[in-house]
Amino acid sequence: MAAAYTATHDIGHWIGGQAVRGTGGRSQAVYNPSTGAVARQVLLASVDDVHAAVAAAKVAQPAWADFPPIRRARVMNNFLQLLNQHRDALAAMITAEHGKVFTDAQGEVTRGIDIVEFACGVPQLLKGDYTDQVSTGIDNWTLRQPLGVVAGITPFNFPCMVPMWMFPVALACGNAFILKPSERDPSPSLFMAELLKQAGLPDGVFNVVQGDKLAVDTLLAHPDVKAVSFVGSTPIANYIYETGARHGKRVQALGGAKNHMVVLPDADVEQTVDALVGAAYGSAGERCMAISVAMFVGDEIADVIVPKVAERARQLKIRNGMELDAEMGPIVTAAARDRIEGCIATGVAEGAELVVDGRGCSVPGHEGGFFTGGTLFDRVTPEMRLYKEEIFGPVLSCVRVKTFAEAVELVNAHEFGNGVACFTRDGNVAREFARQIQVGMVGINVPIPV
Ligand code: NAD
Repeated sequence: MAAAYTATHDIGHWIGGQAVRGTGGRSQAVYNPSTGAVARQVLLASVDDVHAAVAAAKVAQPAWADFPPIRRARVMNNFLQLLNQHRDALAAMITAEHGKVFTDAQGEVTRGIDIVEFACGVPQLLKGDYTDQVSTGIDNWTLRQPLGVVAGITPFNFPCMVPMWMFPVALACGNAFILKPSERDPSPSLFMAELLKQAGLPDGVFNVVQGDKLAVDTLLAHPDVKAVSFVGSTPIANYIYETGARHGKRVQALGGAKNHMVVLPDADVEQTVDALVGAAYGSAGERCMAISVAMFVGDEIADVIVPKVAERARQLKIRNGMELDAEMGPIVTAAARDRIEGCIATGVAEGAELVVDGRGCSVPGHEGGFFTGGTLFDRVTPEMRLYKEEIFGPVLSCVRVKTFAEAVELVNAHEFGNGVACFTRDGNVAREFARQIQVGMVGINVPIPV
C-alpha cells in the first residue's frame, strides 16, 4: 500500500495526484477508539495547502471535462473494481478510526459502491434534451455541463460512504473535486484517492485536504470553488450554507437528525423489538438514520416492548469492532462519549425514567477505550432536551402518547427528522401515516401474515 496510508505514517493531504505533508505545521491526534490510544496524527491544512489543492484541480479539470463521458465512466468502472477488491481493507480502516463494528463498516463501503455503480452510467445520465420548434424557427437544447472545481466537506460517522455520495458523480460529470474529510477518521479518504489514481484518474482531478475550520473557511471563500456539498451537524450546516451562499457558491448542506419510530398498539412485538435494538444501538447510534425516539401509542404496547428492549440493551455485546461477535463498538472519541453521557445526566435531571444506564461501561482488555453502553429512557416528554436535541449516541428515548393523531403531530413538529418509521399491522393506518408525515423518509412495517 502507498505511503499515504501506512499505519505508522502521519496522515497528510493528496494534491495533484500525490501524498503531501503540506505546510500547515499543525496536527491533531487520531485515536483508536477501542483502546483509547493515539494511533496517528493528521496534518491540518494551511491556507496555502488549500490554495495548492484548488490550483491543481483548476489546472486538471478542463482536460478531464473534455474526456468523452464513456472514458470517464471507464475510470469509474476501474475504481469500482478496485473498491470491490479492497472492500475489507477500507472497512478495517473505518473500524480502526471510527470504531463501528467491522460488518457495519463493510456495509458502509458497499453503500458507497452503490453510488459508484450509479456514476458508471454517466454517459446516459448526461444526455441532454432537444425540443423542436419551441417557437417559430427556434429549437431548444438542454445540455449538462460540469461546474469546474467543486468541494465536499464530510462528517466522521461515514468516512467512506458520505464522500462517495459526492465525488463519484461529480467526477463522472467532468468536475474536479476537493474532499475535506472529518479530522477524526481521515485515512479512508487517502486510500480512496490512491485507488482513483490506480483507476486511471488524471492527477489533480481528485484532491484531499485534511483539516479543520481553517481549511473549510478557505474553501468557502475561494473564488475557484464553484459548489460545496456538506454533510454534518446542523449548526455547521447552517454556517456552511450561509457562508458559501455569501461567496456566490451553489451549496447543499445536510444536517443532524432525530428519527422517530411510531409503534401502534397492534404492532408485531418481536419485529418491533428487533428493529428498535438495531436502529437505536447499531453503530453506537452514530448514524443520521438512527432511531432515537420510540413513540408508543398507548401504555399497553409500551409496557410490553420497553422491558424487552431493556433486556436486549443490557445484553449488547460491546467490544472492539474487529471482534467477530461485537454488536456495538466504541464512540469515536472520548469527548463524544463524555458529551453523550452528559446528555444522559441531563435526561435524568429532567425527570425521564432511566431504565438502562449505559454510562461507565468498561470492556475487559480495552479499559482505555471510549465505550458507553446502550441507554434506555422511558416516559420522556416533548419539552425535555433529551427529546428535542440530537444526542448521536446509543440512547433511546421512549415517549408515550394516547392517540395516532398526537404521534403524527409530534413527529411533524420536531425540528429534526431525516426519517420516521411506523410499526402497525393495519395497512390503512400505515397508508394514512405515510400521507400525513412531513419529514424526509418514511418507512412502514406492515407484517404480511404467513
Ligand atoms: P460536524 O458538523 O462536527 O463536522 C462535519 C464537517 O464539518 C467536518 O469535516 C468538520 O471538520 C467540519 N467542521 C466542524 N466544525 C466546523 C466549523 N466550526 N467550521 C467549519 N467546518 C467545521 O459533524 P460530525 O460530528 O463530524 O458528524 C455528525 C453529524 O453529521 C451529526 O449531526 C449527524 O446527524 C450528521 N449527519 C447527517 C447526515 C445526513 O444525511 N443528514 C449524514 C451523516 C451525518
